[in-house]
Amino acid sequence: MTEEELMLSSLLDCRRIDLYVDPKPLSLRQEKKLIQMQLRRRQGEPLQYIVGSVEFMGLNFVVDSRVLIPRPETEILLERVLTLAQQLRSPHLRILDLGTGSGNIAISLAKFIDSSSVTAIDISPEAIELAKMNVKNHSVASKINFIHTDMIEYLSHYRAEEEPFDILVSNPPYIPCAQIHRLPKDVQCEPRIALDGGEDGLHFYRSIIERAPFILKRGGYLVLELGDGQKVVLEELLANSPGYQEINFYKDYCGIDRVLVAKVTNENQPN
Ligand code: GLN
Repeated sequence: MTEEELMLSSLLDCRRIDLYVDPKPLSLRQEKKLIQMQLRRRQGEPLQYIVGSVEFMGLNFVVDSRVLIPRPETEILLERVLTLAQQLRSPHLRILDLGTGSGNIAISLAKFIDSSSVTAIDISPEAIELAKMNVKNHSVASKINFIHTDMIEYLSHYRAEEEPFDILVSNPPYIPCAQIHRLPKDVQCEPRIALDGGEDGLHFYRSIIERAPFILKRGGYLVLELGDGQKVVLEELLANSPGYQEINFYKDYCGIDRVLVAKVTNENQPN
């Protein structure tokens, strides 16, 4: 869909094809709105914020400047988790989503895995507010529990006596902070807190990789999105952390290593 088609179909609340097979003239109000949308776009605002939604895993998610815009490559992460969910054959899957943002990962998993529950963490109360709207739109409220907290706090205070999770999933902020000002203008409109991965981009990975073996069941999986060029350092981090086996990386549609899956080992687990 072109940007113009997206704006028009959102204004007219119709499908792209209807713009051509059943074209409707814009009312004066809609015309004014279209001009405003085009202006916002020219000023560099992401199209998804302007139309107010984005498609992810075939589902529609409300988005605005409170959250990171779900990316197509994150669907690779979702597909991995869905495959693992089948392999695990657990009667009920407990999933932890760190940095849930718009809730796209948590909600897609709740939708596509019948017997599952998802704990979704985010540091931003505004993001949780928006994610709750998406949860309501997709009727999965009974399967998702939101916790408003810093993921590093959550990871470090998790107690061994709490029921462990089957899968920990996260698309954490992973852009090195010095690179943020070099990102395209529309990406810079997204919440910095959802992008900034600290000095080397690895701030959140360090805590997640260190703590996940305490939080996951033995034989459970850690599934993370990663940024372009981060494979080698993450491989090294995992190799130096006790508690993992079977580490695999998966590429996105551009051939970039985008997702890592690591199994929590049955032996030598720290807890
Ligand atoms: N994928 C986003 C980008 O490339 C970054 C998201 C993140 O930091 N998790 O702009």
